[in-house]
Amino acid sequence: MPTWFAACLWLGLAGAAVAQGNGRPQSEFPVATDARLEQSGETVRLTMALSRPVEVGASVLAGPDRVVIDMPSTNFQVQPAAARKSAGVVSAFRFGLFTADRARIIIDLAQPAVVVKAESRPVRGGFGELVIELRRATRAEFQAAVAKTPSRNPEATAAIPPPAKPAGESRQTIVIDPGHGGIDPGAVVASIAEKAVVLAFGAKLKKQLEASGRYRVLMTRDDDRFVPLAERVGIARAAGADLFISIHADSLTQAQEVRGATVYTGSERATDAEAARLAAKENQADAVAGLEASEDMQDVAGILMDLAKRETRTFSAVFARNLVEKLGGSVKMHKVPLRSAGFRVLSAPDVPSVLIELGYMSSPKDAELLNSAEWRGKAVEAVATAVEGYFGGPRAPVGKAAANGR
Ligand SMILES: [Zn+2]
Repeated sequence: MPTWFAACLWLGLAGAAVAQGNGRPQSEFPVATDARLEQSGETVRLTMALSRPVEVGASVLAGPDRVVIDMPSTNFQVQPAAARKSAGVVSAFRFGLFTADRARIIIDLAQPAVVVKAESRPVRGGFGELVIELRRATRAEFQAAVAKTPSRNPEATAAIPPPAKPAGESRQTIVIDPGHGGIDPGAVVASIAEKAVVLAFGAKLKKQLEASGRYRVLMTRDDDRFVPLAERVGIARAAGADLFISIHADSLTQAQEVRGATVYTGSERATDAEAARLAAKENQADAVAGLEASEDMQDVAGILMDLAKRETRTFSAVFARNLVEKLGGSVKMHKVPLRSAGFRVLSAPDVPSVLIELGYMSSPKDAELLNSAEWRGKAVEAVATAVEGYFGGPRAPVGKAAANGR
């Protein structure tokens, strides 16, 4: 099974994602450079130079309308700033790793279009050229193309199952969930992607918690890969986690003055409109990566929340309050720092779960802090203290293990 490699070369955030050295060396991946988007009448062409030809597949998905290009793991050395981002039917495109051995390019459509050409052809010197050609189409033509696309959801979940709690393991298990990843960058402000900011934070938090020797700490991803939302929840449940901490750093368009950290718990009813909007946006992560939304996925948060054991919610709330208190002692908090909404990633019925929005990438002040090692150190320290307070405090969740028969 090939290992993941950092493919966030266009992030400009060195060291956030670290290449894992025990699989295929990254030098074996084909390299894609020099992306170009060109329009000619009704046709738009996306081309990239490749270090060698690769196999490509194209399919179209509706709602949001997009074209998905599947290819083997690719080292994208494409400067997003250098390429035109939109032209004709194309409103944007992005690329990144999708599964352990697959990469994707996702082309967002401003208007219905069909794929006329999707190929990588050999060029002189053993190199390749990726050519994707789209033509503006009627809604009916587009829908016909969508209908021909086979269901693709199963492939994304073909990940390695997390290790179950080993017998005799007495330490508390904590699962850290850095949001987004791979093909889904999350918020992107000034070439810095949320996926890299939260991965760097998660890795530091893991180190800090492990240093105490009291916790078994797992991460839903420890490199720049895409992980579907349901799988993140699945990892926590399969690991028998005692606590699940999802890390995000979103952006608000047109609200540069809004800043500070916020702690969210899951709830079928949002505390406010902003929380509801944020949860809706985060719940789109699978769609961003080109996964189809299936009906059971749409409603999973609500259904699972109904089934959630009351003590799980109580412990989530206890930890969230702890977090707000400890974080508030060292970093700037949002003016309403403790909120809830229907985040799918917080839907495990048996694992106390919170989501931390570290700050807003849309706030220049927050963005600066999120990238500062000093701020990260302070915030990680505060979260670790909150974790200790939660497991060691007067309302320690020993009742959780007992109630669940663990
Ligand atoms: Zn996010």
